[in-house]
Amino acid sequence: MSDIYKNAVDSLRFAIEHFLKEPTYSSRKHAILTLFHAVELFLKEQLFRTNRLLIYRNIDSPVTEDSQTVGIKEALSRLENLGLGLPKQQRGVIENIQKRRNRIEHHRYDQKEEDEVVIAESLQFILFFVDSVLRGKLEEDIPAETLREIQRIVYERDQLYWIAMHRLERWMHEEWPDWNDQVADTPDEFAGTNDCPICRDSFLVSGYHPKPFCFRCNTTVDAEDCNYCGRTYIAGNPCHTQEE
Ligand SMILES: [Zn+2]
Ligand SMILES: [Zn+2]
Repeated sequence: MSDIYKNAVDSLRFAIEHFLKEPTYSSRKHAILTLFHAVELFLKEQLFRTNRLLIYRNIDSPVTEDSQTVGIKEALSRLENLGLGLPKQQRGVIENIQKRRNRIEHHRYDQKEEDEVVIAESLQFILFFVDSVLRGKLEEDIPAETLREIQRIVYERDQLYWIAMHRLERWMHEEWPDWNDQVADTPDEFAGTNDCPICRDSFLVSGYHPKPFCFRCNTTVDAEDCNYCGRTYIAGNPCHTQEE
C-alpha cells in the first residue's frame, strides 16, 4: 500500500471514531475535517496508481518530494480527463462536504443537523470508492466490528443487500472466470453461501478465504458450523453444546 493510501485510511479511521460519538460541536467538526482529508487522499491515490507524477501540481519542472500536490478540484478534473471521472451524484456529495470543511477551515463551525447527512453520504462514498475502485480491504486497518457498525448506520437495509449481492457476484466472477451468469445462477463448483451469524443474511462464504467472509458485513467473520443443528455461530459462542 502506498503512503497516500495509508494516510487516507488513518484519517478515515479517525473520522469514523468521531462520527460514532455523540453529535457534539467537536465530534462533528473533526469528523468533517478528517473525512474531507480522507476523500482528497483517496482520490489522489487513484491518480498515483495511474501515474505517480499525476499527484503533482506542476510536472513541467523537476519534481521533488516537497513539490506541491494537487487539491481536490484538480484531482477530480484529472480523473475526468483520464476517463476515470466520478458520477454526478458522487461529485455532489464531495462538493457538500467540501463546503462544510471550507467554512470550518477559513471561518467557523456552525454545527447543523444536516451535517449528519453530509457525513453519512461522504462515508458511503468512501466505503464504495475504496471497495470498488481502489479494491482496498479496510478491515486490515479498521476493526471489523467498527466497519460493520458504520455500514449499518450509513446504508439502508436494502442498499446493503444489493451491495452485498454485487460484491458476491464480483468475487464469483474472479474466482471462476468461466462462469456464465446467463446460464447458471452460481458457478457449478461453488458450494454456496451460509447464513452469517452477525447480520443473519445468507452472504457468508466459507473455505475460500483464510477465514469465513461475509459479503454483506464485508468483513471476515469468526463463524463456525454447529455440529448439532447445522447453523453457524460466532466462534466461542455455540448455539448447542450437545444434541438435544
Ligand atoms: Zn454478515
Ligand atoms: Zn446448533
